[in-house]
Amino acid sequence: MEKYTELLKNAYEAMDNAYAPYSNFHVGACVKTKDGKYHKGANIENASYGLTNCAERSALFHVYSLGYRQDDIECMAIVGQGNTLITPCGACRQVLVELLKRDTPIVLGTGEKVLVTNIEELMPMAFTSDDL
Ligand SMILES: [Zn+2]
Repeated sequence: MEKYTELLKNAYEAMDNAYAPYSNFHVGACVKTKDGKYHKGANIENASYGLTNCAERSALFHVYSLGYRQDDIECMAIVGQGNTLITPCGACRQVLVELLKRDTPIVLGTGEKVLVTNIEELMPMAFTSDDL
């Protein structure tokens, strides 16, 4: 897990930037690109709850906005409060299927717990552009 120490540190730091006045549940994410850069994202809520953007989507959309694509992404982390590992919601899984390679490591962290997975494990039999 040591290889993900810096990634997780950045993800936990991103939690501080969460805008979560409704849930008070702060989530942080970080995408590491293959050029060695770390890109943070946090959950951004809205009074119209459905418009809330999750941390992992915030981070990934930012990375794509900078011009990176899935081949440029080394790994990502998603971390939250409490003692239960948080996993991406259904909407985020659909986004991750499109924007990450199937085997890109996704590191989930909460407190002492860390789990390394990928979108293939999190969302088998996903609907993709192959289905169009
Ligand atoms: Zn989500």
